[in-house]
This record gives sequence, structure tokens and C-alpha cells, in this order.
Amino acid sequence: MAFEGLSGKLQDTFKKLRGKGKLTEKDIKEATREIKLALLEADVNFKVVKKFVADINERSMGAEVLKSLTPGQQVIKIVKDEMTRLLGEKPVKLDYASKGLTGLMLVGLQGAGKTTTAGKLANHMKKDGKKVLLVACDVYRPAAVKQLQVVGKQVDAEVYSDETSKDPVQIAKDGFRFAREHFFDVVLYDTAGRLQIDETLMEELAKIKEEVAPDHIVLNIDAMTGQEAVQVAETFNEKIDLTGVILTKLDGDTRGGAALSVSAVTGKPILFAGMGEKLTDLEIFYPDRMASRILG
Ligand code: GDP
Repeated sequence: MAFEGLSGKLQDTFKKLRGKGKLTEKDIKEATREIKLALLEADVNFKVVKKFVADINERSMGAEVLKSLTPGQQVIKIVKDEMTRLLGEKPVKLDYASKGLTGLMLVGLQGAGKTTTAGKLANHMKKDGKKVLLVACDVYRPAAVKQLQVVGKQVDAEVYSDETSKDPVQIAKDGFRFAREHFFDVVLYDTAGRLQIDETLMEELAKIKEEVAPDHIVLNIDAMTGQEAVQVAETFNEKIDLTGVILTKLDGDTRGGAALSVSAVTGKPILFAGMGEKLTDLEIFYPDRMASRILG
């Protein structure tokens, strides 16, 4: 699981805090300095770290904490609270349209896990009793349609594709119509990615969005990508106004900190975490549980 390094370092700091009967301002300064270094080393975005540490400092220096019988515990609780807040505070459920078809567009860089996540989401939604159509909008990668068909088969979800077409916007529109005519509950658009953010891709996604007006536009972020994740999230959010984020590959052995910054920089909730390659490896994202996992 990601964050092991971060977790270890923060726990060392917590241990020191717990070991002290009374805390001085100097002790708190030292602890927050350690927390800051641990977060930066784990690749959490610099601006996010700065605010996080300032908030902890401000709350910890209050007279109630310093005078309390268990100041160390109080500071640890403050760090936990702030970490939960950083991750979005409360879990946000992916809701369905109150009636008719729910549209969800999956976006992200190539390799971020979109196609896999499309299968995972279809599987998750089927458990909610929904009939899900997967629409193959990636016309650039030769194997993309095939890959979605394999995934669709595994989770027993129908796939709409048109291999004669090179027009993803038209495919999305046709897929939407097909979903409506055949009484699907959810239509899930698996869109193309690029290795880097590129203007043409953004325009294409904006056009698909305009044509099919999905209820959800969900960005897949690979937790292994480091600092780039923040920039990717900011740009996608600016260009197509995301409704939420899914972090993938959180099972990986990486620092993972950049992914922790994504909700803070976009203001958009993390809906799910991808925890493996299997189509059942999708977890609803609970900010408080993730904070506990990281902080021990
Ligand atoms: P796309 O290009 O965005 O559609 O990405 P894919 O769905 O093809 O995924 C790229 C690679 O990441 C594949 O090898 C997937 O099996 C893998 N992958 C996707 N999600 C996860 C995850 O949560 N954990 C792990 N370990 N691998 C994942």
C-alpha cells in the first residue's frame, strides 16, 4: 500500500509527542517541522503542505492544548482531523440521476487506469442493481476497444463501440442514444488519454461533455505519478470542470503523496480508490479511514 514511508515517519513523530507529559511551543514547532518534512518527502504538493502545517500549528499552539493533561494526544488528534479535511472530510457518494439515464464520463491520462476503472465501476453499479452500458470513445489506441470489450465481458456489461468510426464525439452521442433506447440506467464513457495533457484532447473531451451532458465527469489519477498528478488534476478541472476524482494504484508501493493533494487543489471529492488490477479492487473513498491508515 502507498504511504508506508510517510506513515512510518509520522508515527515516529507521534511517539515522541506521546512520550512527553507537557508540551512547550518548541516541542510543537519541532513536531510540525517533522510533519512538514515527512509530507514533502512523500511528494505532497508544497502549497498544500504549507497550509496543512500552518493550520496544525495554529490549532496546536492554543492554550487549551498546551495546558491540557494530554497535550501530545491533542496534537495528534489535530493532525488526524486536518488530514481528514485534506482528503475531503466526508465521503461523497456517486449518485444516480433521480430518474432516467445517469451519464458518467471517465477522463485521464493514458495508463491512468480508465478502462480498468470503467469495468470496476460497472461492477460496482451492477451491485446497486443498475444496467450499465460502456461506451468505447478511445479511437486512437488500437487495442482500446478490444480492452473495453474484455473488461465488459468480465463484469457482464454491454459495450457500445463503432470500429468504423474515428469520431469519438459521434460515438459518444450514438452510445448515449443507444443507452436511452435500450433503457440502460447508466452510460459510462471511456475516453481517450494521452501521455501528457494536450490541447486537442481537452477540446475533444469538452465537446463530448457538451454533446452528452454527463452527470459526472470523473478524473482518474494514477497515484504513482508524483507531482505531475496535481498539475493534471488542475488542468482537467479548469478545462472540463470535474465532478470527482478516482485515485488508482493506491495498492502500489509508492510515496503517493501527490494524490493526497488532488482534492485540496481541485476542491473536488475523491470518490473511489483503485486498490489493484482486478475488477473488484475498487473501494469507496472514506477520508477519515484513509487518514487513519496513513497516520496509524
Ligand atoms: P487507461 O489507459 O487509462 O485506460 O488505463 P488502463 O485501464 O489500461 O490501465 C493501465 C494499467 O494500470 C493496466 O495494466 C491496469 O491493470 C493497471 N491498473 C489500473 N488500475 C489499477 C489499480 O488500482 N492498481 C494497480 N495495481 N493497477 C491498476
